[in-house]
Amino acid sequence: MLFPHSYHRLLRVFLLCFCLVTVARAEERTYTVQSGDTLGGIAQQFGVSARDMQLYNDLPSADRIVVGQVLRVPPGPDVPIRYIVRAGDVLSIIARNHGVRASEIIELNELKNPDALHVGQVLLIPGHARQQRTALPEHVRRELDQIRVRSGWTHIVIHHSGTRRGNVRDMDRYHREDRRMVNGLGYHFVIGNGNGMRNGEIAMGPRWRAQQDGGHLASAAQNRYSIGICLVGNFDQTRPTAQQLHSLRALVGYLQQRAGIPVSNVTTHTRINVRPTACPGRHFPTEEFLRSLRN
Ligand SMILES: [Zn+2]
Repeated sequence: MLFPHSYHRLLRVFLLCFCLVTVARAEERTYTVQSGDTLGGIAQQFGVSARDMQLYNDLPSADRIVVGQVLRVPPGPDVPIRYIVRAGDVLSIIARNHGVRASEIIELNELKNPDALHVGQVLLIPGHARQQRTALPEHVRRELDQIRVRSGWTHIVIHHSGTRRGNVRDMDRYHREDRRMVNGLGYHFVIGNGNGMRNGEIAMGPRWRAQQDGGHLASAAQNRYSIGICLVGNFDQTRPTAQQLHSLRALVGYLQQRAGIPVSNVTTHTRINVRPTACPGRHFPTEEFLRSLRN
């Protein structure tokens, strides 16, 4: 026989379990493996570790994933990260490096004066946000941070290669030898699609390293102030991969910050070119992409 109070306790336990199951269901996320994907790359995209992905999906080995396989994404860390402020730190840069907004850090830490951080101060960084927002892979960010960005970059222009496969080396050779462009590769950056370069891989071209004008637009004036990013693929036939879009979002966000470029100046080849072009192809989701930058 159940006494009223133990009955209540059981009911409470039951309700608690029910709620936990509901929450777990709501947060269940999946990802369908695409050509060129690696488990590490997918894990990074969701802000979880490759090891967690492997365990969560009972994979015998991290490199045994196949195209079309549906992977379950483990819940990400929702525990805030502790960050200790170093000399020269600025809130907006700390936020960017963690893939969160400065306002989220201000809110979580109840900062009265966000401009007055002091060395040694402990900041809590929202852990959950890392999964939703996009941050550049650490090694890419470190490489980009070393470039002394010149002034005068006001636009970011997106292109496709118009080819099924491609990589920086071959594109550079083509621009140098066949197109007779002395500075080589006309784009500042190339993002791979798994054919010739890793899916979502960001490669910096020699022109960004040397802070030279682009060679990706028909107008010399536009090339002077436009950063060119090329996604490998023919988007008249296919959509860019999810990982390409993820990397593009992270790269554009970074460049906007570094060069102070507003979203309104992020555009595509077809929208800015003085001569008609279909680049980056009718399947490039321009509106959707630009909207994702505003959020
Ligand atoms: Zn183009």
